[in-house]
Amino acid sequence: MPAKKIEAETAEAFGRIFVKGNIPEVNPVRCLACRHCVALCKKLGPDVLDIVDGVAKPVRPENCIGDGACMLACPTKAIFLMSKYETSSAPPSV
Ligand code: SF4
Repeated sequence: MPAKKIEAETAEAFGRIFVKGNIPEVNPVRCLACRHCVALCKKLGPDVLDIVDGVAKPVRPENCIGDGACMLACPTKAIFLMSKYETSSAPPSV
């Protein structure tokens, strides 16, 4: 299968370049609302996540730089995938 070229916005952080456009998917069954991902993302700068109705959610998806730090912070692997952020299906911001 031939590779597909896409145009992507990038973000520079921690001395690296990340491709923007993907946001974390949170498995609500696995999420303990422990806030580890929320705190780390806020501390690193993007501040994408918050706890909504007892589950971590990307409430500021436009801030996501796709570094995947939240995946590493999660003790239950509730954040396992990063998927494309579509403004048309974006969760409401708080
Ligand atoms: S680190 Fe994992 S379990 Fe904790 S709030 Fe975030 S997604 Fe939920």
